[in-house]
Amino acid sequence: MHRFQEPSFRDSVDLMFNRAVALMDLEPGLEEKIRVCNATYTVRFGVRLRGQMHTFTGYRSVHSEHMEPVKGGIRYAPEVNQNEVEALAALMTFKCALVEAPFGGSKGGLCLNPRDWEEHELERITRRFAYELIKRDMINPAQNVPAPDMGTGEREMAWIADQYARMNTTDINARACVTGKPLNAGGIAGRVEATGRGVQYALQEFFRHPEDVAKAGLSGTLDGKRVIVQGLGNVGFHAAKFLSEEDGAKIIGVIERDGALYNPAGLDIAALRDWLVRHGGVAGFPDATHTAEGATVLEEDCDILIPAALEGVITMENAPRIKAPLIIEAANGPITAGADDILRSRGTVIIPDLYANAGGVTVSYFEWVKNLSHIRFGRMQRRQEEARHQLLIDELERLSRDSGIGWTLSPGFKDKYLRGAGELELVRSGLDDTMRTAYQSMREVWHARADVPDLRTAGYLVSIDRVSASYRAKGL
Ligand code: GLU
Repeated sequence: MHRFQEPSFRDSVDLMFNRAVALMDLEPGLEEKIRVCNATYTVRFGVRLRGQMHTFTGYRSVHSEHMEPVKGGIRYAPEVNQNEVEALAALMTFKCALVEAPFGGSKGGLCLNPRDWEEHELERITRRFAYELIKRDMINPAQNVPAPDMGTGEREMAWIADQYARMNTTDINARACVTGKPLNAGGIAGRVEATGRGVQYALQEFFRHPEDVAKAGLSGTLDGKRVIVQGLGNVGFHAAKFLSEEDGAKIIGVIERDGALYNPAGLDIAALRDWLVRHGGVAGFPDATHTAEGATVLEEDCDILIPAALEGVITMENAPRIKAPLIIEAANGPITAGADDILRSRGTVIIPDLYANAGGVTVSYFEWVKNLSHIRFGRMQRRQEEARHQLLIDELERLSRDSGIGWTLSPGFKDKYLRGAGELELVRSGLDDTMRTAYQSMREVWHARADVPDLRTAGYLVSIDRVSASYRAKGL
Protein backbone atom coordinates (compact mmCIF):
# COMPACT_ATOMS: atom_id res chain seq x y z
CA MET A 1 0.00 0.00 0.00
CA HIS A 2 2.72 2.44 1.05
CA ARG A 3 5.33 2.04 -1.60
CA PHE A 4 7.96 4.52 -0.47
CA GLN A 5 10.89 3.73 1.80
CA GLU A 6 11.04 4.60 5.48
CA PRO A 7 12.37 8.16 5.53
CA SER A 8 15.30 9.03 7.80
CA PHE A 9 14.81 11.52 10.65
CA ARG A 10 16.36 14.27 8.56
CA ASP A 11 14.15 13.41 5.55
CA SER A 12 11.11 13.25 7.81
CA VAL A 13 11.63 16.80 9.05
CA ASP A 14 12.13 17.99 5.45
CA LEU A 15 9.00 16.14 4.26
CA MET A 16 6.91 17.66 7.05
CA PHE A 17 8.33 21.09 6.26
CA ASN A 18 7.59 20.60 2.54
CA ARG A 19 4.02 19.56 3.23
CA ALA A 20 3.47 22.88 5.00
CA VAL A 21 5.26 25.17 2.52
CA ALA A 22 3.25 23.63 -0.31
CA LEU A 23 0.25 25.35 1.28
CA MET A 24 2.00 28.71 1.58
CA ASP A 25 2.72 31.46 -0.78
CA LEU A 26 6.39 32.07 -0.08
CA GLU A 27 8.49 34.16 -2.46
CA PRO A 28 10.61 31.97 -4.75
CA GLY A 29 13.82 30.78 -3.14
CA LEU A 30 12.86 31.67 0.41
CA GLU A 31 11.51 28.20 1.01
CA GLU A 32 14.88 26.62 0.38
CA LYS A 33 16.69 29.24 2.45
CA ILE A 34 14.49 28.43 5.43
CA ARG A 35 14.72 24.65 4.99
CA VAL A 36 18.48 24.24 4.76
CA CYS A 37 20.84 24.10 7.70
CA ASN A 38 23.13 27.16 7.67
CA ALA A 39 26.24 25.46 9.02
CA THR A 40 27.39 22.39 10.88
CA TYR A 41 30.66 22.38 12.69
CA THR A 42 32.33 19.02 13.30
CA VAL A 43 35.02 18.83 15.92
CA ARG A 44 37.32 15.93 16.68
CA PHE A 45 39.32 16.33 19.85
CA GLY A 46 41.52 14.19 22.01
CA VAL A 47 41.42 13.70 25.77
CA ARG A 48 44.02 11.63 27.61
CA LEU A 49 42.10 9.23 29.85
CA ARG A 50 42.96 5.93 31.49
CA GLY A 51 46.54 6.21 30.24
CA GLN A 52 45.77 6.70 26.56
CA MET A 53 44.50 9.29 24.12
CA HIS A 54 40.82 9.03 23.21
CA THR A 55 39.42 10.88 20.22
CA PHE A 56 35.83 12.12 20.39
CA THR A 57 33.61 13.50 17.61
CA GLY A 58 31.14 16.27 18.34
CA TYR A 59 28.87 18.55 16.34
CA ARG A 60 27.19 21.90 16.67
CA SER A 61 24.76 22.68 13.91
CA VAL A 62 23.15 26.06 13.27
CA HIS A 63 19.94 25.74 11.31
CA SER A 64 18.68 29.30 11.18
CA GLU A 65 20.07 32.62 12.39
CA HIS A 66 17.01 34.72 11.61
CA MET A 67 17.18 35.52 15.34
CA GLU A 68 20.21 35.35 17.59
CA PRO A 69 21.33 33.77 19.76
CA VAL A 70 20.53 30.41 18.24
CA LYS A 71 19.31 27.85 20.77
CA GLY A 72 19.20 24.12 21.28
CA GLY A 73 20.49 21.32 23.45
CA ILE A 74 23.62 19.18 23.38
CA ARG A 75 23.04 15.43 23.22
CA TYR A 76 25.44 12.73 24.42
CA ALA A 77 24.71 9.41 22.73
CA PRO A 78 26.70 6.82 20.77
CA GLU A 79 24.41 7.17 17.72
CA VAL A 80 24.85 10.96 17.36
CA ASN A 81 25.63 11.89 13.75
CA GLN A 82 25.53 14.94 11.52
CA ASN A 83 22.15 14.18 9.95
CA GLU A 84 20.52 13.70 13.31
CA VAL A 85 22.00 16.91 14.74
CA GLU A 86 20.85 18.85 11.67
CA ALA A 87 17.31 17.48 11.89
CA LEU A 88 17.21 18.40 15.57
CA ALA A 89 18.56 21.90 14.83
CA ALA A 90 15.82 22.43 12.23
CA LEU A 91 13.19 21.37 14.74
CA MET A 92 14.61 23.93 17.19
CA THR A 93 14.04 26.74 14.67
CA PHE A 94 10.37 25.85 14.27
CA LYS A 95 9.89 25.11 17.97
CA CYS A 96 11.25 28.51 19.03
CA ALA A 97 9.14 30.31 16.43
CA LEU A 98 5.98 28.50 17.51
CA VAL A 99 6.36 29.37 21.20
CA GLU A 100 7.75 32.84 20.46
CA ALA A 101 11.12 32.28 22.09
CA PRO A 102 13.29 34.89 20.35
CA PHE A 103 15.93 32.46 19.10
CA GLY A 104 17.17 30.80 15.95
CA GLY A 105 17.61 27.03 15.90
CA SER A 106 20.72 25.04 16.75
CA LYS A 107 21.70 21.67 18.20
CA GLY A 108 24.80 19.88 19.32
CA GLY A 109 25.86 16.33 19.90
CA LEU A 110 28.77 14.30 21.11
CA CYS A 111 29.24 10.65 20.09
CA LEU A 112 29.74 8.87 23.35
CA ASN A 113 27.86 6.74 25.81
CA PRO A 114 27.87 8.63 29.12
CA ARG A 115 27.55 5.26 30.95
CA ASP A 116 31.01 4.30 29.70
CA TRP A 117 32.75 7.09 31.64
CA GLU A 118 33.25 8.14 35.25
CA GLU A 119 32.07 11.56 36.37
CA HIS A 120 35.58 13.10 36.47
CA GLU A 121 36.24 11.76 32.96
CA LEU A 122 32.98 13.18 31.65
CA GLU A 123 33.95 16.52 33.13
CA ARG A 124 37.24 16.57 31.25
CA ILE A 125 35.55 15.50 28.01
CA THR A 126 32.79 18.11 28.42
CA ARG A 127 35.19 20.92 29.24
CA ARG A 128 37.33 20.07 26.22
CA PHE A 129 34.28 19.91 23.90
CA ALA A 130 33.06 23.22 25.35
CA TYR A 131 36.52 24.77 24.85
CA GLU A 132 36.47 23.81 21.16
CA LEU A 133 33.02 25.34 20.70
CA ILE A 134 33.62 28.46 22.84
CA LYS A 135 36.77 29.49 21.00
CA ARG A 136 34.76 29.49 17.76
CA ASP A 137 31.83 31.44 19.30
CA MET A 138 29.66 28.34 19.01
CA ILE A 139 28.83 28.87 22.67
CA ASN A 140 28.19 32.52 23.49
CA PRO A 141 25.39 34.39 25.32
CA ALA A 142 24.72 36.57 22.27
CA GLN A 143 25.19 33.99 19.55
CA ASN A 144 24.67 30.39 20.53
CA VAL A 145 23.24 29.12 23.80
CA PRO A 146 23.17 25.33 24.40
CA ALA A 147 21.05 23.45 26.93
CA PRO A 148 20.60 19.87 28.10
CA ASP A 149 19.27 17.11 25.86
CA MET A 150 19.44 13.31 25.97
CA GLY A 151 22.43 12.17 28.02
CA THR A 152 23.19 15.61 29.49
CA GLY A 153 21.75 17.59 32.39
CA GLU A 154 22.46 20.27 34.96
CA ARG A 155 25.90 18.88 35.76
CA GLU A 156 27.19 19.16 32.18
CA MET A 157 25.67 22.65 31.81
CA ALA A 158 27.46 23.81 34.98
CA TRP A 159 30.80 22.58 33.55
CA ILE A 160 30.13 24.37 30.25
CA ALA A 161 29.17 27.61 32.04
CA ASP A 162 32.30 27.46 34.16
CA GLN A 163 34.48 26.73 31.14
CA TYR A 164 33.02 29.77 29.35
CA ALA A 165 33.57 31.98 32.42
CA ARG A 166 37.22 30.87 32.63
CA MET A 167 37.77 31.77 28.98
CA ASN A 168 35.81 35.05 29.16
CA THR A 169 36.75 36.46 32.54
CA THR A 170 35.33 39.95 31.92
CA ASP A 171 32.04 38.96 30.30
CA ILE A 172 29.40 40.16 32.75
CA ASN A 173 26.78 38.02 30.98
CA ALA A 174 28.84 34.85 31.02
CA ARG A 175 26.14 32.84 32.80
CA ALA A 176 23.74 33.35 29.90
CA CYS A 177 26.04 31.27 27.65
CA VAL A 178 24.12 28.09 28.46
CA THR A 179 20.77 27.21 30.06
CA GLY A 180 19.60 24.29 32.17
CA LYS A 181 22.22 25.08 34.82
CA PRO A 182 21.75 24.11 38.48
CA LEU A 183 20.04 26.75 40.60
CA ASN A 184 23.25 27.58 42.46
CA ALA A 185 25.12 28.18 39.20
CA GLY A 186 22.67 30.63 37.65
CA GLY A 187 19.85 28.25 36.78
CA ILE A 188 16.14 28.89 37.19
CA ALA A 189 13.53 27.16 39.33
CA GLY A 190 11.46 24.69 37.32
CA ARG A 191 13.86 24.14 34.40
CA VAL A 192 14.57 20.45 35.11
CA GLU A 193 10.90 19.43 34.87
CA ALA A 194 10.01 22.07 32.25
CA THR A 195 9.70 19.80 29.21
CA GLY A 196 7.53 17.29 31.11
CA ARG A 197 5.49 20.12 32.60
CA GLY A 198 5.05 21.51 29.09
CA VAL A 199 3.69 18.14 27.90
CA GLN A 200 1.18 18.26 30.77
CA TYR A 201 0.14 21.84 29.95
CA ALA A 202 -0.16 20.92 26.27
CA LEU A 203 -2.54 18.06 27.09
CA GLN A 204 -4.52 20.23 29.51
CA GLU A 205 -4.97 22.81 26.77
CA PHE A 206 -5.94 20.16 24.21
CA PHE A 207 -8.64 18.89 26.57
CA ARG A 208 -10.01 22.44 26.94
CA HIS A 209 -11.24 22.14 23.34
CA PRO A 210 -13.98 19.47 23.15
CA GLU A 211 -14.04 19.79 19.34
CA ASP A 212 -10.39 18.75 19.15
CA VAL A 213 -10.84 16.00 21.72
CA ALA A 214 -13.73 14.64 19.63
CA LYS A 215 -11.47 14.49 16.56
CA ALA A 216 -9.46 11.90 18.46
CA GLY A 217 -12.66 10.03 19.26
CA LEU A 218 -12.26 10.89 22.95
CA SER A 219 -14.38 12.94 25.35
CA GLY A 220 -14.25 14.47 28.81
CA THR A 221 -11.09 15.51 30.61
CA LEU A 222 -7.70 13.97 31.37
CA ASP A 223 -9.20 12.36 34.46
CA GLY A 224 -9.18 8.58 34.10
CA LYS A 225 -7.51 8.58 30.68
CA ARG A 226 -5.25 5.55 30.08
CA VAL A 227 -1.74 6.58 29.13
CA ILE A 228 1.30 4.67 27.81
CA VAL A 229 4.70 6.36 28.08
CA GLN A 230 7.84 5.35 26.22
CA GLY A 231 10.97 6.43 28.09
CA LEU A 232 11.10 7.34 31.76
CA GLY A 233 13.97 9.81 31.36
CA ASN A 234 13.68 13.43 32.41
CA VAL A 235 10.84 14.27 30.01
CA GLY A 236 8.80 11.05 30.20
CA PHE A 237 9.15 10.79 33.96
CA HIS A 238 7.95 14.31 34.71
CA ALA A 239 5.11 14.17 32.18
CA ALA A 240 3.89 10.83 33.59
CA LYS A 241 4.29 11.99 37.19
CA PHE A 242 2.36 15.23 36.75
CA LEU A 243 -0.39 13.67 34.62
CA SER A 244 -0.98 10.87 37.12
CA GLU A 245 -0.55 12.88 40.33
CA GLU A 246 -2.33 16.08 39.29
CA ASP A 247 -4.73 15.32 36.43
CA GLY A 248 -6.03 11.88 37.38
CA ALA A 249 -4.63 10.14 34.31
CA LYS A 250 -3.68 6.46 34.69
CA ILE A 251 -0.25 5.43 33.45
CA ILE A 252 -1.00 1.86 32.38
CA GLY A 253 2.23 1.17 30.50
CA VAL A 254 5.85 2.29 30.63
CA ILE A 255 8.42 1.24 28.04
CA GLU A 256 12.11 1.37 28.95
CA ARG A 257 15.41 0.03 27.62
CA ASP A 258 14.98 -3.40 29.29
CA GLY A 259 11.34 -3.97 28.29
CA ALA A 260 7.96 -2.66 29.32
CA LEU A 261 5.70 -2.72 32.35
CA TYR A 262 1.96 -2.96 32.07
CA ASN A 263 -0.75 -2.59 34.69
CA PRO A 264 -4.30 -1.64 33.67
CA ALA A 265 -4.92 -0.28 37.19
CA GLY A 266 -2.12 2.28 36.76
CA LEU A 267 1.55 2.41 37.80
CA ASP A 268 3.04 4.45 40.65
CA ILE A 269 5.43 6.59 38.64
CA ALA A 270 7.49 8.01 41.52
CA ALA A 271 8.07 4.50 42.91
CA LEU A 272 8.90 3.18 39.45
CA ARG A 273 11.45 5.90 38.83
CA ASP A 274 13.13 5.07 42.17
CA TRP A 275 13.23 1.43 41.13
CA LEU A 276 14.70 2.33 37.74
CA VAL A 277 17.44 4.44 39.29
CA ARG A 278 18.29 1.73 41.85
CA HIS A 279 18.15 -1.30 39.51
CA GLY A 280 19.07 0.21 36.16
CA GLY A 281 15.89 -1.17 34.56
CA VAL A 282 12.17 -1.66 35.10
CA ALA A 283 12.22 -5.49 35.26
CA GLY A 284 11.18 -6.89 38.64
CA PHE A 285 9.05 -3.88 39.63
CA PRO A 286 6.20 -5.29 41.75
CA ASP A 287 2.53 -5.05 40.77
CA ALA A 288 3.05 -5.00 37.01
CA THR A 289 3.53 -7.40 34.12
CA HIS A 290 6.96 -7.20 32.50
CA THR A 291 7.41 -7.79 28.77
CA ALA A 292 10.93 -8.10 27.41
CA GLU A 293 9.74 -7.02 23.94
CA GLY A 294 9.01 -3.45 25.09
CA ALA A 295 8.03 -2.07 21.68
CA THR A 296 4.91 -4.24 21.57
CA VAL A 297 3.43 -2.17 24.42
CA LEU A 298 3.42 0.85 22.05
CA GLU A 299 0.66 -1.05 20.26
CA GLU A 300 -1.49 -1.69 23.35
CA ASP A 301 -4.95 -0.26 23.70
CA CYS A 302 -4.84 3.14 25.47
CA ASP A 303 -6.22 6.69 25.16
CA ILE A 304 -2.95 8.62 24.98
CA LEU A 305 0.47 7.47 23.81
CA ILE A 306 3.49 9.54 24.85
CA PRO A 307 6.71 8.64 23.04
CA ALA A 308 9.32 10.40 25.19
CA ALA A 309 12.52 8.64 24.16
CA LEU A 310 14.17 8.59 20.77
CA GLU A 311 13.34 9.61 17.21
CA GLY A 312 12.00 7.09 14.70
CA VAL A 313 10.18 4.71 17.06
CA ILE A 314 6.84 4.77 15.25
CA THR A 315 7.55 3.67 11.71
CA MET A 316 5.67 2.51 8.61
CA GLU A 317 6.10 -0.99 9.98
CA ASN A 318 4.38 -0.59 13.37
CA ALA A 319 2.13 2.44 12.65
CA PRO A 320 -0.75 0.30 11.29
CA ARG A 321 -0.88 -1.52 14.66
CA ILE A 322 -0.85 1.57 16.93
CA LYS A 323 -4.22 1.76 18.67
CA ALA A 324 -3.88 5.05 20.58
CA PRO A 325 -6.26 7.66 19.11
CA LEU A 326 -4.11 10.49 20.52
CA ILE A 327 -0.30 10.68 20.42
CA ILE A 328 1.71 13.49 21.96
CA GLU A 329 5.32 13.66 20.80
CA ALA A 330 7.32 14.41 23.94
CA ALA A 331 10.48 13.26 22.13
CA ASN A 332 11.81 14.92 18.99
CA GLY A 333 10.83 13.09 15.82
CA PRO A 334 9.40 9.88 17.32
CA ILE A 335 7.05 9.39 14.32
CA THR A 336 8.62 9.10 10.87
CA ALA A 337 6.98 10.99 8.01
CA GLY A 338 5.81 7.66 6.55
CA ALA A 339 4.21 6.61 9.83
CA ASP A 340 2.68 10.08 10.15
CA ASP A 341 0.85 9.57 6.80
CA ILE A 342 -0.47 6.19 7.91
CA LEU A 343 -1.65 7.47 11.30
CA ARG A 344 -3.28 10.55 9.79
CA SER A 345 -5.20 8.45 7.27
CA ARG A 346 -6.51 6.41 10.19
CA GLY A 347 -7.68 9.51 12.06
CA THR A 348 -5.10 9.46 14.85
CA VAL A 349 -4.60 12.92 16.32
CA ILE A 350 -0.93 13.81 16.82
CA ILE A 351 0.19 16.71 19.01
CA PRO A 352 3.50 17.38 17.26
CA ASP A 353 7.01 17.59 18.76
CA LEU A 354 7.71 21.16 17.70
CA TYR A 355 4.90 22.17 20.04
CA ALA A 356 4.63 19.32 22.54
CA ASN A 357 8.18 19.40 23.88
CA ALA A 358 8.76 23.15 23.60
CA GLY A 359 8.41 23.59 27.37
CA GLY A 360 12.14 23.01 27.79
CA VAL A 361 13.27 25.78 25.51
CA THR A 362 10.54 28.07 26.85
CA VAL A 363 11.92 27.87 30.38
CA SER A 364 15.44 28.09 28.93
CA TYR A 365 14.34 31.43 27.52
CA PHE A 366 13.27 32.55 31.01
CA GLU A 367 16.61 31.41 32.42
CA TRP A 368 18.53 33.32 29.76
CA VAL A 369 16.52 36.48 30.52
CA LYS A 370 17.13 35.96 34.25
CA ASN A 371 20.87 35.67 33.64
CA LEU A 372 20.95 38.81 31.51
CA SER A 373 18.93 40.78 34.05
CA HIS A 374 21.04 39.49 36.94
CA ILE A 375 18.04 39.18 39.24
CA ARG A 376 15.73 36.39 40.30
CA PHE A 377 12.15 36.61 39.03
CA GLY A 378 9.81 37.88 41.73
CA ARG A 379 12.53 39.34 43.95
CA MET A 380 11.26 42.90 43.67
CA GLN A 381 7.51 42.36 43.78
CA ARG A 382 6.85 39.32 45.94
CA ARG A 383 6.57 40.99 49.39
CA GLN A 384 4.86 44.05 47.99
CA GLU A 385 2.23 41.80 46.43
CA GLU A 386 1.79 40.01 49.75
CA ALA A 387 1.43 43.32 51.63
CA ARG A 388 -1.31 44.50 49.27
CA HIS A 389 -3.18 41.22 49.60
CA GLN A 390 -2.85 41.50 53.40
CA LEU A 391 -4.42 44.97 53.18
CA LEU A 392 -7.45 43.58 51.41
CA ILE A 393 -7.85 40.69 53.86
CA ASP A 394 -7.57 43.08 56.84
CA GLU A 395 -10.20 45.33 55.32
CA LEU A 396 -12.58 42.42 54.60
CA GLU A 397 -12.21 41.16 58.15
CA ARG A 398 -12.79 44.65 59.58
CA LEU A 399 -15.95 45.09 57.45
CA SER A 400 -17.25 41.72 58.52
CA ARG A 401 -16.57 42.53 62.18
CA ASP A 402 -17.86 46.11 62.16
CA SER A 403 -21.04 45.27 60.28
CA GLY A 404 -21.72 42.35 62.57
CA ILE A 405 -22.10 39.94 59.61
CA GLY A 406 -19.41 37.70 61.04
CA TRP A 407 -18.06 36.29 57.77
CA THR A 408 -15.07 34.00 58.01
CA LEU A 409 -12.79 33.31 55.09
CA SER A 410 -12.75 29.67 54.01
CA PRO A 411 -9.87 27.58 55.35
CA GLY A 412 -6.78 27.63 53.21
CA PHE A 413 -7.99 30.63 51.18
CA LYS A 414 -6.09 33.16 53.26
CA ASP A 415 -2.79 31.30 53.04
CA LYS A 416 -3.13 30.76 49.32
CA TYR A 417 -4.23 34.31 48.57
CA LEU A 418 -1.58 35.92 50.74
CA ARG A 419 1.34 34.03 49.22
CA GLY A 420 3.13 36.21 46.67
CA ALA A 421 4.50 34.54 43.56
CA GLY A 422 8.11 33.39 43.76
CA GLU A 423 10.27 32.37 40.84
CA LEU A 424 8.78 28.88 40.51
CA GLU A 425 5.19 30.15 40.38
CA LEU A 426 6.17 32.77 37.80
CA VAL A 427 8.00 30.22 35.66
CA ARG A 428 4.97 27.92 35.72
CA SER A 429 2.64 30.75 34.86
CA GLY A 430 4.85 31.83 31.96
CA LEU A 431 5.13 28.27 30.70
CA ASP A 432 1.40 27.61 30.98
CA ASP A 433 0.60 30.82 29.13
CA THR A 434 3.12 29.95 26.40
CA MET A 435 1.75 26.44 25.89
CA ARG A 436 -1.84 27.67 25.76
CA THR A 437 -1.12 30.49 23.33
CA ALA A 438 0.96 28.33 21.02
CA TYR A 439 -1.71 25.62 20.91
CA GLN A 440 -4.34 28.18 20.07
CA SER A 441 -2.29 29.60 17.22
CA MET A 442 -1.94 26.07 15.77
CA ARG A 443 -5.57 25.05 16.18
CA GLU A 444 -6.82 28.26 14.64
CA VAL A 445 -5.01 27.39 11.40
CA TRP A 446 -6.03 23.72 11.66
CA HIS A 447 -9.72 24.63 11.87
CA ALA A 448 -9.73 27.63 9.56
CA ARG A 449 -8.24 25.93 6.52
CA ALA A 450 -9.71 22.83 4.92
CA ASP A 451 -6.35 22.09 3.24
CA VAL A 452 -4.53 21.83 6.57
CA PRO A 453 -4.88 18.18 7.53
CA ASP A 454 -3.41 18.13 11.02
CA LEU A 455 -1.85 19.99 13.94
CA ARG A 456 1.67 19.30 12.70
CA THR A 457 1.12 20.99 9.36
CA ALA A 458 -0.62 23.83 11.20
CA GLY A 459 2.34 24.17 13.58
CA TYR A 460 4.82 24.31 10.71
CA LEU A 461 2.66 26.87 8.90
CA VAL A 462 2.61 29.18 11.92
CA SER A 463 6.36 28.79 12.48
CA ILE A 464 7.47 29.14 8.88
CA ASP A 465 5.30 32.20 8.55
CA ARG A 466 7.02 33.80 11.54
CA VAL A 467 10.51 32.86 10.34
CA SER A 468 9.83 34.25 6.88
CA ALA A 469 8.43 37.45 8.41
CA SER A 470 11.66 37.99 10.29
CA TYR A 471 13.69 37.38 7.12
CA ARG A 472 11.55 39.99 5.37
CA ALA A 473 11.94 42.44 8.26
CA LYS A 474 15.70 42.06 8.04
CA GLY A 475 15.60 42.75 4.32
CA LEU A 476 17.23 39.39 3.61
N1 GLU B 1 17.07 20.04 24.24
C1 GLU B 1 15.80 20.65 24.47
C2 GLU B 1 14.97 20.62 23.19
O1 GLU B 1 15.13 19.77 22.36
C3 GLU B 1 15.92 22.03 25.10
C4 GLU B 1 16.60 23.05 24.26
C5 GLU B 1 16.88 24.36 24.98
O2 GLU B 1 16.42 24.53 26.10
O3 GLU B 1 17.56 25.19 24.38
O4 GLU B 1 14.08 21.38 22.99
